[in-house]
Amino acid sequence: MADTAVLLDGKETSKVLLEKVAREASQFAQGDLPKLVAVLVGHDPASEVYVARKMKVAAQLGLASELLRLPDSIETAQLQAEIQYLNQDPHTHAILVQLPLPKQIDTLAVLQTVAVEKDVDGFHPENLGKLLMGIEPVAMPCTPAGIIYLLDAYKIPMAGKRVAVVGRSIIVGKPITLMLTHRNATVTLCHSKTRDLDGILRESEMIIAAAGQPGLIQADAVQPGAVVVDVGINRLPSGRLVGDVDFEALKVKAGYMTPVPGGVGPMTIAMLMYNTLRLYQYQQGLKVERLLLV
Ligand code: NDP
Repeated sequence: MADTAVLLDGKETSKVLLEKVAREASQFAQGDLPKLVAVLVGHDPASEVYVARKMKVAAQLGLASELLRLPDSIETAQLQAEIQYLNQDPHTHAILVQLPLPKQIDTLAVLQTVAVEKDVDGFHPENLGKLLMGIEPVAMPCTPAGIIYLLDAYKIPMAGKRVAVVGRSIIVGKPITLMLTHRNATVTLCHSKTRDLDGILRESEMIIAAAGQPGLIQADAVQPGAVVVDVGINRLPSGRLVGDVDFEALKVKAGYMTPVPGGVGPMTIAMLMYNTLRLYQYQQGLKVERLLLV
């Protein structure tokens, strides 16, 4: 067991993927560029920051991008009409609906409206269904795909590992459970109704924390040498960003762990760019690389 956990550096690892996207996108610079359109409803401060970062990275890579701002008061049907317009637009190759949406919106209905071939987040039922079946869709949910890429980059084996995933959203918890299962891990999917979460964590060699609860995972519930991936992004009253994991206590106990920020976040953005490129290649009838489910 190491005295200090190896940090899984998402900032550094994401560069490999970003450089790959920039290199491949440059081949299309003469013609119609791969284009990502982000749909932002309202002015949620965290969403504003995330979308701005995504647009900035897309521009740095030489991808085309556009931010479609819609009012907070929009109804589901109007939002669906906007998305249908983008579905029809031949210059839009990837559509991202920034979540969360305002309360009056039927989020699942909206996610199903995005054309499956432009679904850059991989949340469409057809794409999630493929993932369930073990068929790699053109675009897979960015955060879990980014986590698998990060674990692969550090050559961390998943096969045979006992893994606890904490959080069961379709954005993170459920798809990462499927991806890890395809990699032959044995996964326990935990949520707010799980009894004895700490008991499950203690038996786990790997923990994926995606609950959005600061301090939820304490060092005494983690095996020495465990792999700890912290997806959570929580802003404390002091303004500091933290994950779901007690980072300071765990960095001398875990084997590997992700920092917050600088761990899963940059991988999510890189995977979004990679998905944009893949959707474009797919729509152009070009060969699309598969790299994560094998
Ligand atoms: P959701 O709010 O959709 O889901 C949270 C999940 O955590 C739910 O399944 C909930 O259980 C579970 N949960 C909440 N409290 C507990 C608890 N005390 N014990 C066990 N389980 C609990 O969140 P998301 O999946 O969208 O996001 C999770 C976190 O990850 C957030 O902090 C978010 O900001 C962050 N995030 C980070 C990304 C990145 O790129 N780094 C990308 C996406 C998200 P139940 O279902 O029973 O309610």
